[in-house]
Amino acid sequence: MKRSRNAKCSECGGSVRRKTIDQEFEKEGVRVRLSGLQASVCGRCGEVYFEPGGAQQVVEAVNSLFRLAFSERQHKGTITAALS
Ligand SMILES: [Zn+2]
Repeated sequence: MKRSRNAKCSECGGSVRRKTIDQEFEKEGVRVRLSGLQASVCGRCGEVYFEPGGAQQVVEAVNSLFRLAFSERQHKGTITAALS
């Protein structure tokens, strides 16, 4: 286990904590949801921070889901993927 940094929220200065979260993304009317994301969340304002490199992985996973949704034309409702 890596020791998490004691980062402060850049929005409000509150302390952020490592959490497992769900996030929903939308593009052209298609919704995808990723669950089991590791992120740091501000306890005060709820701002979400991904680890360095983590945001890029999230973007790639989301883009893969969107590609799947558009290519399969199965974009009714929400596609959910668990990363955990
Ligand atoms: Zn904050």
